[in-house]
Amino acid sequence: MLETPRNRHRPVDASAHLAERRTLDACFLGPYGENDVLLEKLVVEFLRDHVHWRRNFHPEDPPAIPTSAVQDRHYQAFEARMRRELHQLSAALKHSVPFHSPRYIGHMVSDLLLPGLAAQILALPYNPNNVSEDAAPVTVQLEVLAGLQLARMLGYPDDPQRPDCAFGHLTSGGTVANYQALRLALALKSFPVALRAAGIPDLDSPADDWEAFNLLPDDAIGLLERWQRWLGAQPADRQLRWQDRLQSERIEELGISEFFSRHPALRVPQVLAPITAHYSWSKGLKMLGLGRGQLRLLPTSGMRLDAGGLHEALEECARIRQPVLMAVAVLGSTEYGTIDPVHSVVEARNRSARLGLGFSVHVDAAWGGYLTTLFRNPDGTLRERAEVRREYRQFPQPEIHQAFAALAETDSVTVDPHKLGYIPYGAGAFVCRDHRAMALLSEQADYVFRDGQPRDYMSRYRQLGQFIPEGSKPGAAAAAVYVTHRVLPLDYTNFGLLPRQTILAAESFQERARQFAVDTADAVAAMVPFPPDSNLVCLALNPRGNRDLAQANAFVQRLYDELRCDPHQPVQIKQFFASMTTLRPSLIGKREMGRILDELGIDPSTLDGSRGGDRLVILRHTMMNPYLIDEENGISYIELYFEYLSARIRSIRHDGTGP
Ligand SMILES: *Cc1c(COP(=O)(O)O)cnc(C)c1O
Repeated sequence: MLETPRNRHRPVDASAHLAERRTLDACFLGPYGENDVLLEKLVVEFLRDHVHWRRNFHPEDPPAIPTSAVQDRHYQAFEARMRRELHQLSAALKHSVPFHSPRYIGHMVSDLLLPGLAAQILALPYNPNNVSEDAAPVTVQLEVLAGLQLARMLGYPDDPQRPDCAFGHLTSGGTVANYQALRLALALKSFPVALRAAGIPDLDSPADDWEAFNLLPDDAIGLLERWQRWLGAQPADRQLRWQDRLQSERIEELGISEFFSRHPALRVPQVLAPITAHYSWSKGLKMLGLGRGQLRLLPTSGMRLDAGGLHEALEECARIRQPVLMAVAVLGSTEYGTIDPVHSVVEARNRSARLGLGFSVHVDAAWGGYLTTLFRNPDGTLRERAEVRREYRQFPQPEIHQAFAALAETDSVTVDPHKLGYIPYGAGAFVCRDHRAMALLSEQADYVFRDGQPRDYMSRYRQLGQFIPEGSKPGAAAAAVYVTHRVLPLDYTNFGLLPRQTILAAESFQERARQFAVDTADAVAAMVPFPPDSNLVCLALNPRGNRDLAQANAFVQRLYDELRCDPHQPVQIKQFFASMTTLRPSLIGKREMGRILDELGIDPSTLDGSRGGDRLVILRHTMMNPYLIDEENGISYIELYFEYLSARIRSIRHDGTGP
């Protein structure tokens, strides 16, 4: 029988292991379309159900389309055209990337969870628009609830009865969620400055602009709440006047340039993020009008944000009075899957506050957000590291466990259900820890207090369009996310089964890579350049005897050409799909770069910007498919991948076309 990590490190008894496998078996359509009957049944059942709903709206209304219409030639001509185009579309889509296959270990995507897929198909013909409850009486509620499900997963307060309950909503993806985080942080940071400028009495506002611009998010929220209560207690006519007066001082009204020219003691704030941050941060700062120049990329060590570097940057900011909008920690970097020390960033926020420098902490967990389910008990508490540790070879290192534990203390998080949530595209999410800040994003005067009482949480957020960057948006996506989280609650015993497979596969991949390096040592130097923090594993290669970086890159590029999607060829001729990334000294530091080049036998002097050889090209593998280790048939696709890679490497070297 196949030696898999599950067999050797089986955490529980065999029957529990089997029960897990059988649950997984019902989760997806499957690599072979094994669950076709199940999906077909669901689709047909709920399509019929939808039709009955149409008919039962006003059954007395007669059918507007005559039953004889199908016999008309125009009808038939239309149907023929439609069929023809659909057949062509369907044929063209056969060139799609086979994300469902365990031979696909490229980008951050895999098969789709059946509950999400079925819920989305089910909801589509109702066409709900989650811009507001008027257009989506059902799904907008589900979206707000999905936000609370994610909040609970992250360790944020998720009880809407609590005044400081979290709030989350869906976006088209992580890019827009990150943008929403920037928007909210800027609104919260600049609000106390506007409040001072508007001269609102009796609110215990900060003493000067610098202090006002440097309140911690929680203190700014406290001030916001005092203002709202105060406003709610004013007579109706004065409410409007005060509201206008404050509005006229806000950055959202004045624009960046006028706001800062009115407050000369303040500079445009910076965003601090690790150099591994996703390029959506650059986009976000451009869109917000703060400028790409305000994105300050910090060094990493071991591909994780370097706490010392962050500390130095913040001390300098405090010294020269450079405001900071937010510090970003990446929970699962896009290129390497590495996990920043969220706990250190939270600590840095608290320490900086004592230097008079206040900012918010955002976690970009677009990729790694759902890994939190590995650490979450069904009752919402955090699992001890030792307990989690028993299920794996190395995972999770202490820093990784600390990073996830610290999520509860951050201000906001981005999570992509369309990545490790296995939900169809068009589903990112933004979650903030304390929903009260959201009042600052509202497009219309948002009277949070009515007669001194806070307004009902759910009814406020059902006017979702008021608070989000987008307008019209698919309610079907919200249905998919919500239903998936109901079927697989976001704890280690349910949803956690999925990321667990991915971590086990990554550990297996890493171990197999070591064996591969030994077995192919005559042809190639191979190494995993840094140990994976989660479920992405990279592989660096250099043909034996070569010392030149450009030659090594050409070799890996050539291999990659065989591992990537090629729209001009049928997908069936591809054996495997992987992806590619690069390592450069500015990213990982000179010393790390030196270590890797040395191990590969590459002469560091050939690392030369002038010849375009300023970076090392490496292969990148994403372990998402739950059938990478197929226990049913005793097949490991990881094993097959390395056999394939080894054969290709020998063949390329033998051709003599390689270096
Ligand atoms: C994928 C990703 C994003 C962007 O998300 P989209 O859904 O592609 O818009 C942002 N940050 C990180 C860390 C990511 O992995």
